[in-house]
Amino acid sequence: MLFENNLPFALKLDEEDELKSYRSAFHIPRSESGEEILYFCGNSLGLQPRKTINYIVQELTDWANLGVEGHFHAKNPWMPYHELLTPSLMQLVGAEENEVVAMNTLSVNLHLMMVSFYQPTSSRYKILIESDAFPSDLYAVESQAKFHGFNPNDAILKIKPRLGEELIREEDIAELLEKEGSKIALVFLGGVNYYTGQVFNIRTITQMAHEQGCKVGFDLAHAAGNIPLNLHDDGPDFAAWCSYKYLNGGPGCLAACFVHNRHAHNEELKRFAGWWGHNKETRFNMRHDFDPIAGAEGWQLSNPPIYSLAAMKASLSIFDEVGMINLRRKSEKLTGYFEYLLDDIADNRIRVITPSNPDQRGCQLSIQVLNADKTLHKTLTEMGVITDWREPDVIRAAPVPLYNSFEDVFKFVELLRKILST
Ligand SMILES: *Cc1c(COP(=O)(O)O)cnc(C)c1O
Repeated sequence: MLFENNLPFALKLDEEDELKSYRSAFHIPRSESGEEILYFCGNSLGLQPRKTINYIVQELTDWANLGVEGHFHAKNPWMPYHELLTPSLMQLVGAEENEVVAMNTLSVNLHLMMVSFYQPTSSRYKILIESDAFPSDLYAVESQAKFHGFNPNDAILKIKPRLGEELIREEDIAELLEKEGSKIALVFLGGVNYYTGQVFNIRTITQMAHEQGCKVGFDLAHAAGNIPLNLHDDGPDFAAWCSYKYLNGGPGCLAACFVHNRHAHNEELKRFAGWWGHNKETRFNMRHDFDPIAGAEGWQLSNPPIYSLAAMKASLSIFDEVGMINLRRKSEKLTGYFEYLLDDIADNRIRVITPSNPDQRGCQLSIQVLNADKTLHKTLTEMGVITDWREPDVIRAAPVPLYNSFEDVFKFVELLRKILST
């Protein structure tokens, strides 16, 4: 597509945008002077859907009026409340019945999944992870290795970009798996790397890892709601993601988990158990041996926080309506325009480290600004642009197709150009 670097062109793209009406379904934060902020941090905390408050008030009202009876007689009975989210989650990540559940928070789910899918032996005990993984993921795998009596320096295998490069090459993952595969118990990668925005091919990596006899899991914190996913067909053993980034569930909102159906009925699989994972028919009889629900629900521990589920339900209803295919279509165009405008600044201090191939990225671009320091980020913030700064010199900015406009992208890049030229 041929882009132009001017405001009327950006406004024309907004006019033609089939999803433009969704911006008004969200609260756009405003500056002290009352102007809408240019919000590019939906990869960190998504904006609040206007309907969320009604979903939460509904549950507060039912609690006020019904007390404990709300578990069965609320408008949305709390006992099976999480089940109301399952169809939307299935759509979102391409899962089958029984493969997904909303529960806990992300790092907790990663641990629960590793309890089941990281079963090291003396000869196969390594975990393969990106060198630049999100800190929580790194802490999780290191502590899991230690828990099983291994030295993380030996057990954690980090795949790095080549010297002088920012992105990890799939061929390097393939080579490492061929060389070390028989020692690797678990391959655990981000679906989209949080720092570079690079997408990993879930299907290819899963196939390569399974051929080596490894289990495979993905952290989809930056993938869910950002790129279309087909978890069942692509076949990883598990995946987990939070719902406060692209999924707009709100700060600390519950996470979700995927367990492939090939494990649904395997009662031999080790797991940490709680009553919410127990057979629903006999859960309240209280005196039964643990009888896990088949599928992902069997990994639940506690009865879940309903207000958080309500916020997730509100947000997922928007994804149901729009669909990931339509969202992705706009996203590719919006991020494509963003990239074009950044290139057009024609300042060799600026370099986008995110892959330029749309198939290898979501909406986020990670912009390296040579010799910049955090004052650049501060200046942007003062000018009403919310982005995310990563040391030493990277701005992460995510134009989110549900609520960001082509005008937002144009104005942001104009401001960046101005700051750099002063
Ligand atoms: C955001 C994020 C987390 C955050 O974990 P919480 O348990 O939700 O605090 C973990 N891992 C990745 C890759 C993330 O992007």
